[in-house]
Amino acid sequence: MEKRVYTSCTLDCPDGCGIIAHVRDGRVVKLEGHPDHEFTRGYLCGKTYDYPQRIYSPERVVDPLRRSNGRTDGAWQRVSWDEALDLVAGKIRHFVETLGPLSIMHYQRTGSWGATKILGRRLWNLLGGVTTASGSLCSGAARAGQTLDFGTRSGHDPLDLLNSRAIFLWGRNPIATNLHVVPLLKEVRRRGDHVVLVDPVQSESAGLATRHVRPRVASDAHLAMAMAKVILDEGLEDRVFIERYTHGFAEYRRFLDTATIAELSRSCAVSEREIRELARLYATTKPSAISTCGRRMKMRARSMRCICPPESSNGYFPSISFGLMLTASSA
Ligand code: SF4
Repeated sequence: MEKRVYTSCTLDCPDGCGIIAHVRDGRVVKLEGHPDHEFTRGYLCGKTYDYPQRIYSPERVVDPLRRSNGRTDGAWQRVSWDEALDLVAGKIRHFVETLGPLSIMHYQRTGSWGATKILGRRLWNLLGGVTTASGSLCSGAARAGQTLDFGTRSGHDPLDLLNSRAIFLWGRNPIATNLHVVPLLKEVRRRGDHVVLVDPVQSESAGLATRHVRPRVASDAHLAMAMAKVILDEGLEDRVFIERYTHGFAEYRRFLDTATIAELSRSCAVSEREIRELARLYATTKPSAISTCGRRMKMRARSMRCICPPESSNGYFPSISFGLMLTASSA
């Protein structure tokens, strides 16, 4: 007999699709999108429709493997779970007894967001606590940059993008990485509003944009600085917002003055004319939004701070339907 199980996707993806799993005799036979999920609206991406084949594939590794010679150049050899658990437990015991639990480092990131992963933390806590990393290898730098400027990070509901009249997709490729934002962007375009893609790459998402700006790789901080300079030079900023809600504006202004628009334009390979147009579009189209990504980019903390200085906002930053969305998860 088949039953329907309501669940959600565990893959490392900001969409978090709602799923109906069809289970027959204890096996998942089909996955489909949950139609009532407000954001993902009943459809999944291709890899998740195929997930049952992956789970039950005879090629899937389901047993522990050990190097036959104990070194990295040895052949993999299947071992029993008891053997693997004894081996790992023995090593943990050895380090706890000889150097203490803090000599063990536990590093865990996403890959899968399955809730059972959290049980690992319980184990390490019961052991007396081990060394862990702060931040992440992925978006940690961008998040640290945001925390420095805003103190805390809180993201928008992705559906809030629909309230924006100019969306800057800054270093993002939602067709590949945030599929369910695509209908929202199409809706914004259908209304006649703006979707600007800032990306050196001619990605699949270029077709979603009303305008594609292609700065030199790793120079987007300079593009953002130049736009901020234009906003301030032309008096397009919200002075009330700056005076009420920001600190260090004079220092920020001095920082911007370390380079001219012409220099920044040369550095990012975007013409001065285009920089001025982008700055005016961003500052005068209200509400506007920047949707960006913090993943694995060189100098991302610095560039994030340039992309999203509240001082250069058009004054809608604290309100809904405007501002910066780092990911749909938590930023
Ligand atoms: S888009 Fe794909 S990977 Fe992302 S949450 Fe949905 S089904 Fe999972």
